[in-house]
Amino acid sequence: MSPKYEMVIGLEVHAQLSTNTKLFCGCSTKFGADVNTNVCPVCLGMPGALPVLNRDAVTMAVQAGVALNCDIQHESVFARKNYFYPDLPKGYQISQFELPVCLGGSLDIEVDGAVKRIGITRIHMEEDAGKLLHQGAMGIADSTYSLVDLNRACTPLIEIVSEPDLRSAAEARAYVETLRQILRTIGVNDGNLEEGSLRVDINISLRHVGATQFGTRCEVKNVNSFRSIDRAIASEFIRQQEVLESGGRIVQQTRNYHDDTQTTTPLRDKEDAHDYRYFPEPDLLPLLLTDERIQSIRAAMPELPHAICRRYQQGLGLTRADADILIEEIGMRRFFEACLACAQDISPKEISKWVIGDLNALLKPKGGFGPSLSLSPEYFVKLIRLISSGALSGKMAKEMLPQLIETDQDPDVLMANLGGGQISDESTLLEIVRKVISENLDVVEKVKSGKTASANFLMGQVMKQSQGKAKPDLVMSLILAEINT
Ligand code: ADP
Ligand code: MG
Ligand code: ZN
Repeated sequence: MSPKYEMVIGLEVHAQLSTNTKLFCGCSTKFGADVNTNVCPVCLGMPGALPVLNRDAVTMAVQAGVALNCDIQHESVFARKNYFYPDLPKGYQISQFELPVCLGGSLDIEVDGAVKRIGITRIHMEEDAGKLLHQGAMGIADSTYSLVDLNRACTPLIEIVSEPDLRSAAEARAYVETLRQILRTIGVNDGNLEEGSLRVDINISLRHVGATQFGTRCEVKNVNSFRSIDRAIASEFIRQQEVLESGGRIVQQTRNYHDDTQTTTPLRDKEDAHDYRYFPEPDLLPLLLTDERIQSIRAAMPELPHAICRRYQQGLGLTRADADILIEEIGMRRFFEACLACAQDISPKEISKWVIGDLNALLKPKGGFGPSLSLSPEYFVKLIRLISSGALSGKMAKEMLPQLIETDQDPDVLMANLGGGQISDESTLLEIVRKVISENLDVVEKVKSGKTASANFLMGQVMKQSQGKAKPDLVMSLILAEINT
């Protein structure tokens, strides 16, 4: 049976900009501080306190716009969006309304190998509200009272609004994943859905397959993981389908998603823009961006994920899978790039193999490639160089790696401490090989009679006598040469 309804989805994504300070005051934006410690008269909404626009936030908003192929506006205007809620002491949120900083962009997503271009309607800047801490219950429903934490108030956000171009949960998810990767890669957002630094509102409507008109939409909020994007869309699709099938009509609403029951419930009937009595913020001048400013931001744009991916595959010879891992793990990629910079003599593939493989595995339980990592790329590259020169075997390098991470000592020194590197000197090895052969003449006879596998036993003996340091391929060829002469 072919499906009767098609879903139409448009997303509003709020992304917290990674500035050190808030949008209109100098308070810190650091997550996890004690409640109401990152506050001042401006973000507390004290009468008479005046906002001052954060220059870095503007730069980041423009960077996001450039990354999403938007038209950056030379003039944009902040407005007051008036509403009452206990987490909003001013009684209004400063946001951009009629004239946002970016208009009309696009984002290419990939689902099942096919690329689809999704339109971006606009990107505007706004301040976040505070946070209510509901007491006496898990959520707002049964709580007896709520406390207000204003640390988050006035944190800079951009809201990225998509066109209603998405047609499935898979596309919506790919859109958020791709967007998140871009914002993280250019350093304007940390991509943390759980901590709320990326928040997704899902607008969804249904229409008969083949219809050209859109149906009435609902907006689903409180979706804070990738898994809940899929689930919220699935459950809202079913709900709307049931309403339509039973002859009902969809009421335009804002609905709340509950991950525990995987359902949505109505939050409020859809408000219209005029309900907010928007008007231009009188305490801020219009935001004017000169051509020079926009050009200089463009010129200094960090590399975008798809460009990195292409460079890693075509320029460095990495696989798509390895390129994807490095792009996703920003700290790991930074370390990889630092290694490349001091390793012109080693293939990038070899470096990526060690970074993504052994190094990553050892660092994972210790906070990964974060700021606590003291290992210098130069020493790590030196270790890999010791392998390619034959001074260390891969096995020895693996054994040395934890120590290298721990101490960040010169690998030459570590190697000396471990009693030297791999023995690849032929005359030294030949001496051991001859000794092993003279002690195992019976085995030599077996090899001669065609049981070549027995040569492995002799090899084992040589490794044992050399404390595992003999270069294996060289030892084997010496053994065979000795026996066959
Ligand atoms: P509001 O702030 O009122 O929600 P916005 O213009 O900011 O309005 O966002 C509207 C969002 O809803 C956009 O992402 C848009 O693509 C999407 N949208 C609009 N109409 C429909 C529809 N009929 N079905 C699904 N999504 C829609
Ligand atoms: Mg909305
Ligand atoms: Zn403040």
